[in-house]
Amino acid sequence: MNGRRAVIVGGSIGGLFAGNMLVQQGWKVDILERAKDDLASRGTGIARHLELEQLLKRLGIVVDNTVGIDVSGRTAFDRNGEIIVEYNLPQRLGAWNRVFEPLFEKFPREHYHNGSEFTGMETTDVVTKVQTANGQDFEADVVIGADGFSSTVRELVAPGVKPTYGGYVAWRGVSGEENLTVEFLTSIFSHYAFLFLPKSLLIGYPMAGSNGSVTIGKRRYNYLWYYPTTEENLKKLLTDNEGHLHENGIPPPLIQRTHIDELKMNAQRLMPENFLEAVFKADTTMFQPIYDVNSDRIVFNNVALIGDAAFVARPHVGVGVLKAAQDAISLATSLSECHTISEALTRYEYERLQAGKRAVTHGRNLGAFIERGLDKPEDDPTLNLPPERIIRVSGRPYEHVLEQNL
Ligand SMILES: Cc1cc2nc3c(=O)[nH]c(=O)nc-3n(C[C@H](O)[C@H](O)[C@H](O)COP(=O)(O)OP(=O)(O)OC[C@H]3O[C@@H](n4cnc5c(N)ncnc54)[C@H](O)[C@@H]3O)c2cc1C
Repeated sequence: MNGRRAVIVGGSIGGLFAGNMLVQQGWKVDILERAKDDLASRGTGIARHLELEQLLKRLGIVVDNTVGIDVSGRTAFDRNGEIIVEYNLPQRLGAWNRVFEPLFEKFPREHYHNGSEFTGMETTDVVTKVQTANGQDFEADVVIGADGFSSTVRELVAPGVKPTYGGYVAWRGVSGEENLTVEFLTSIFSHYAFLFLPKSLLIGYPMAGSNGSVTIGKRRYNYLWYYPTTEENLKKLLTDNEGHLHENGIPPPLIQRTHIDELKMNAQRLMPENFLEAVFKADTTMFQPIYDVNSDRIVFNNVALIGDAAFVARPHVGVGVLKAAQDAISLATSLSECHTISEALTRYEYERLQAGKRAVTHGRNLGAFIERGLDKPEDDPTLNLPPERIIRVSGRPYEHVLEQNL
């Protein structure tokens, strides 16, 4: 199928993985990205799994020990800030932009279209005409929807599939190592920490500095606080000072000051002293509403959904980036090894549908205690979520959990 044309909607992790693979295979690829500006300046921390490193290497991207910070395991802290239990699991923690940037640099610049918002498509015979809001037209043999949780491509091909809100948000913040106190740096900073708070959970870990540096003194601290928020309050959080509702995510600078002040008040009320500066010293604060997206199909004629457009598993699982990469690689490999597009897309769906469903279910289970407003995850023993299990099974592919029977 050398020389075929693909249009990819969404130029983030999933879109760039698929785009780079297909270009390597001799396809003509255009990526349409709604954002006008460079995405690289955004993003906070991610867990870098070995599987992700292998997929990056397949694209010829160098992965060395400067791409993240190695930790030896996870540590659970109780609401007083005392260590409850530890679990030994070496892992590399990275920054989102250290995955995005090399993928972006590798893709042919002239075929990456910033400010191109996909609006619709029309198929005649086997060719699909793809339209954008700025009046551009692209022709494609295959259309790949890599446009995230609120995917417009999915809206067209599977209008019944909607993101469902999990009843809480993840507040995220990042602080420079140089601003943190010696006490924080020695007792908290280097842990992959799980802080169990009333009805909520905070995860914190070190990540590379904004320039990618992993040198001591130049790194950053990243936290993510899962916090219950009603749908009504979520709307308020997503509304800027001008009263405009940003349903698909509010850019961090537009979050109203009062919401950040309230976050800090809640931190003061609920968090132990030794963790407080994670929230108070953060120079970037943002939040992510927790949604599930669960699909029964991810292929529709010559259209395939990948990454968050196909399935969104809550960040407890920590595989959003890896899953998007795995979807993209499976799709591109099928397109290279099968004789027809239809055969390739059928194989892709077969390979990735169940993996997506498993990740969504795992994420829902891990977040069930916050969604249900339980004070502690152990309050309902049927959830099987004591802290010692949460720290073992979070932030890693569900396949590991199954293989090791955790
Ligand atoms: C800027 C940015 C920063 C992120 N930072 C982090 C992080 O720090 N930690 C983390 O765990 N996850 C982060 N994520 C999410 C993470 O990338 C995804 O959860 C996961 O990797 C799946 O990637 P994806 O490519 O499927 O979807 P996404 O990363 O959500 O990308 C979807 C892309 O599609 C574009 N798009 C949407 N609609 C249209 C349209 N109609 N036309 C054209 N383009 C469209 C969006 O602008 C976006 O770039 C970030 C995502 C983005 C976009």
